[in-house]
Amino acid sequence: MSKQAMIYKRVLIAGAGIGGMALATALARRGIEVQVVERRQQASAIGVGIIQHCNAVRVLQSLSLLQDCQAAGFQADERRYHDESGKLIVSAYSARSLGPDIPAFHNVPRVALQGILERAALEAGTQLRTGDSIVAITQDSEGVDVAFGSGASARYDLVVGADGIRSGLRRLLFGNEWEPQFTGFGFWRVTVPRLPNLDFMGMYHGSNSTKAGLVPLTGETMYLFLVSNEPANVQMDPASHLRVLREYLAPYGGDVGAVRDMLNASHEIVYSPAEQVLLPQPWYVGRALLIGDAAHAGMPHLAQGAAMALEDAYVLDELVGRQLPAPVLMESFMQRRFERCLYSQRASLAIANSEQHSDFTALSKHHDHLRESLPGIWRSSDMKLGAQP
Ligand SMILES: Cc1cc2nc3c(=O)[nH]c(=O)nc-3n(C[C@H](O)[C@H](O)[C@H](O)COP(=O)(O)OP(=O)(O)OC[C@H]3O[C@@H](n4cnc5c(N)ncnc54)[C@H](O)[C@@H]3O)c2cc1C
Repeated sequence: MSKQAMIYKRVLIAGAGIGGMALATALARRGIEVQVVERRQQASAIGVGIIQHCNAVRVLQSLSLLQDCQAAGFQADERRYHDESGKLIVSAYSARSLGPDIPAFHNVPRVALQGILERAALEAGTQLRTGDSIVAITQDSEGVDVAFGSGASARYDLVVGADGIRSGLRRLLFGNEWEPQFTGFGFWRVTVPRLPNLDFMGMYHGSNSTKAGLVPLTGETMYLFLVSNEPANVQMDPASHLRVLREYLAPYGGDVGAVRDMLNASHEIVYSPAEQVLLPQPWYVGRALLIGDAAHAGMPHLAQGAAMALEDAYVLDELVGRQLPAPVLMESFMQRRFERCLYSQRASLAIANSEQHSDFTALSKHHDHLRESLPGIWRSSDMKLGAQP
């Protein structure tokens, strides 16, 4: 289609993260002029590793980026649940729903995923402006006028807020009442050398109401995570990270205990309070729309936040490609995305609550419950997530 006939010739995306760069790649490859404005000076990733289920993999495949991700990461099909001593409780395999040669999970260091997406977006012609953000937005039925913190201004056919859990565009469009809510959990992560036997995702249930995990990231590396119950939404002093994490890991034996014992001050331990964003629908005003964490950040238990941001980008690109007028495009997007993202948020929180708030005086009962329920929970979530968004 000639550029003249296109409804969306010029698109602005706020946020050069996972959803923003996936969308920029897809739209720029259509010949659309795409600008991305990123608040940070460098669009480098903060974080440790991303577990990617079949639905994230489907989007990467559609962008022809799957091979790059495979080369940068580690693939697996199995989750194994253990008690804190390392004894196996139950194992759950996920189906290879995208074909026999494509494993169920593609884990990748976050910085590698971000680099792959950023390269693809820039190669497709995306213009990336770092160190800037949107400060004002006005619109009419034909377009959106945007003013930037740098003093620049421009008009676009579509504006997309992919600016993450603390989205500035969300505030501009919907006010301050949809800020992230603390869930009562904290997440600890640290990258360490991969144990040679660790070619599955290992979960470990502690008797101190924590859950630990070991996730292979590359041939050489894996990350340890720990979920803790936390009384308040505070950023802890990084100087205390090693001590507090070691205390939480104290009851663990087996592989987790071995990793705990090798942790020292040279390891970069990342702590994040777990928050979610519960923005009711619609996630758009006129021609400005929120995607990814900006609209629906959730708990990491289902490992679906990045996947949902990627799916948002996939669906939005498809609707733009169909040249739907803005009101129809926005409504179609909400119909395709709202319930699915809500499912992901609710399922993640349900897993967190069931694992973390159990009566640990009856540990063996809890393990029986995990043994009976987990394979079924994952089968049904695999089926849901395997369906086309
Ligand atoms: C502990 C933890 C573990 C996780 N593990 C997984 C996992 O295994 N699998 C998975 O699928 N998901 C996981 N997630 C979720 C995942 O990280 C997020 O859901 C995902 O990054 C959201 O993508 P996004 O594009 O919406 O936002 P981000 O990737 O957060 O990108 C937002 C970008 O916008 C920029 N920005 C912010 N404000 C502005 C502004 N005002 N103007 C311009 N730019 C701005 C930011 O600097 C950033 O570059 C995890 C999350 C956490 C906390």
